[in-house]
Amino acid sequence: MAETNWSDVVGQKQLTDNLRSALKYNKISHAYLIQGERLSGKMMIAEIFARALQCENAEGDKPCNQCRSCKQAMNRNHPDILYVQHEKPNVISVDNIRQQINGDIAIKPYSGAHKIYIVDEAEKMNVQAQNALLKTLEEPPEYAVILLLATRVEAMLQTILSRCVVLNTRPVHEDMIKEYLMRRVQVPDYRAAICASFARGNVGRASELASNEQFDHMKSSVIGTMKHISDMEINRIAAETKKMVEEKFDADDYLDLCFIWYRDVLLYKACGVYGDSRHIIFKEDMAEIADAARRYSYDGIERIIHSIDKARSRLKANVNLELTMELMLLDMKAG
Ligand SMILES: [Zn+2]
Repeated sequence: MAETNWSDVVGQKQLTDNLRSALKYNKISHAYLIQGERLSGKMMIAEIFARALQCENAEGDKPCNQCRSCKQAMNRNHPDILYVQHEKPNVISVDNIRQQINGDIAIKPYSGAHKIYIVDEAEKMNVQAQNALLKTLEEPPEYAVILLLATRVEAMLQTILSRCVVLNTRPVHEDMIKEYLMRRVQVPDYRAAICASFARGNVGRASELASNEQFDHMKSSVIGTMKHISDMEINRIAAETKKMVEEKFDADDYLDLCFIWYRDVLLYKACGVYGDSRHIIFKEDMAEIADAARRYSYDGIERIIHSIDKARSRLKANVNLELTMELMLLDMKAG
């Protein structure tokens, strides 16, 4: 675990303010549930909170990251910060909860003031596991803090939720993600804009995309296709879709890239004449965006955007991938 602190959390102010004021006024609950999608930063937040709770130099509402306790926590070998493990990838079983929480919680903390249990992917607890946890949540020892991290609270029993402080992560503004990628991850401007726009408010996903070569490869391929689609022969279009399947491009990502391209074309058509291109994502391909903006009518662009949506619903309905993509590319060619 890296040496992180509250200032490293991008966005999520409401959530972190809540935890920080609990630390500041020493009003710690026995159970928290942090909800958010994959890579939205739940674990990072939980770990900063856990470190602050155990820190030997308690600096009000944040960890010092220097003391022995903080160092142990950063190496994930703090004796009083425990991560609940599960051997089956999709289930946290009743035995996991019994052995790792219920059977352990009565043992007082070794060195810290608290004993903290972190349950990642808590939505994977089955009903029996949740019922077992409920027993502990009903009468937790004074020093116990349970941090549940979940992608969906719908999977959790109401009785569990009612005993937790439920905190939700929120999508982070695109500009904040872009700035984060540029400043802290040293991603160049153009690339940062694409990844930020693509990540739909999820900072972790944006970072992942920024370092993902497969994504880069797919992006160049999509842009290449978009640039030449109007002049492409039918057999070339068929070859494109075949390549997409062979190279195992992620279909949702592919459609998102197509969508961003045509949104750029539309933006350029609407504002480009006034020289306002701030919001265009594919800035490096401005000449081709401008070209497409001249070639397509507003109606044509609208039809294409509709066609991208249609492809998305077809894939959800399990229509053949190659066929779906071919139909969409033909719509783009027709304009
Ligand atoms: Zn410390």
